[in-house]
Amino acid sequence: MATRSRRMETKLIHEGEPSPRIEGAVSIPIFQSSTFEYAGQDSYHDLRYIRLNNTPNHAALHRKLAALENGEAALVTASGMAAISTVLLTLLSPGDHLLAQDCLYGGTHDLLKGDLAGLGMEFSVLDGTAPRTWEAALRPETRVLYMETVTNPLLQVADLEAAAAFAREHGLVSVIDNTFASPVNFRPLDWGFDLSIHSCTKYLNGHSDIVAGAVIGKADAIERITHKLNHLGGSLDPHACFLLHRGLKTLSVRLRHQNESALAVAGYLQKHPGVRRVHYPGLESHPDHARARRLLDGFGGMLSFEIEGGVEQADAFIENTTLPISAPSLGGVETLITRPATTSHAGLSPKDREAMGISDSLIRLSVGLEHPDDLIEDFEQALSRGRS
Ligand SMILES: *Cc1c(COP(=O)(O)O)cnc(C)c1O
Repeated sequence: MATRSRRMETKLIHEGEPSPRIEGAVSIPIFQSSTFEYAGQDSYHDLRYIRLNNTPNHAALHRKLAALENGEAALVTASGMAAISTVLLTLLSPGDHLLAQDCLYGGTHDLLKGDLAGLGMEFSVLDGTAPRTWEAALRPETRVLYMETVTNPLLQVADLEAAAAFAREHGLVSVIDNTFASPVNFRPLDWGFDLSIHSCTKYLNGHSDIVAGAVIGKADAIERITHKLNHLGGSLDPHACFLLHRGLKTLSVRLRHQNESALAVAGYLQKHPGVRRVHYPGLESHPDHARARRLLDGFGGMLSFEIEGGVEQADAFIENTTLPISAPSLGGVETLITRPATTSHAGLSPKDREAMGISDSLIRLSVGLEHPDDLIEDFEQALSRGRS
């Protein structure tokens, strides 16, 4: 990318835009055409067709996403899970083994445990904060190291520098799910990762109105993944491409607001006598705070906490708040609140959740674009109602 030196805000607006502009349109039009006129292509993968992810809406997004994380190339997919499954099915063959961080996104965990295991691809988990223990988990058939930048819902930040170095040293492909950080807070390729994956459903689109995914990396790897996606069929619809493209332009201003608001809310909750524990990597009390400070440009818009009492008090608190919407997912303009035991981690047994440090009364917050003082006032009244 020739314009690597440009800053994130500028790249979000200008990278990847059609040149010259189509009929002068400032905003890229939606190319709602499944197929395009034959132009002498000699490879199936180059025929222009929506499933082959090569319409003008795809191409513009690919250029923009690659530029954001200083990658050679990028690919958009029909969902975050389409990106994750397609990447892993490209990198792994039957008999291969994958090493993954121990607190994965639920869908990824289920894919590894349920679907890939059924195809003869095994995995084992490692503690992302303890690099000394990783070597013992290696097998001759280990091919991939799979990490997440910030974990859900405890917001852990693993030793990501060590992870990229470990993968390089042992000839593994390093893959990281960068959804929670977004390119504004972390750019995995700059830290030595081979492939960065996003659920664009979250921060990249930012408006809770589409599902989409992306992979960013070296051109040859992205080409292999693209060919796999062309066969699996998880392509992104042009209208969703358009919405993602539009959402991306405001990513940086949204994220900076969310970084600041989440820090303010976390600080408020930490001081409140009715709150037992707050998990936010921007707080000095977070076990990974020093590492987060070194690796990340912002601590993100996600936090989780436990209030005094049990599940009943947690549900009453959620009920008593007026601004956050009680819904799973994250990264949009509206503040969302959930109890992970009933949403993202409902598939695990209470014992497994306990072992992961996820109590049934844990509350997770995705901070939106409301004024943080209004959120704090809302939490104040909800907490005081719980105590009376
Ligand atoms: C939501 C999410 C996914 C899955 O993305 P979809 O777009 O829902 O398929 C993967 N990883 C993380 C960290 C997520 O938050």
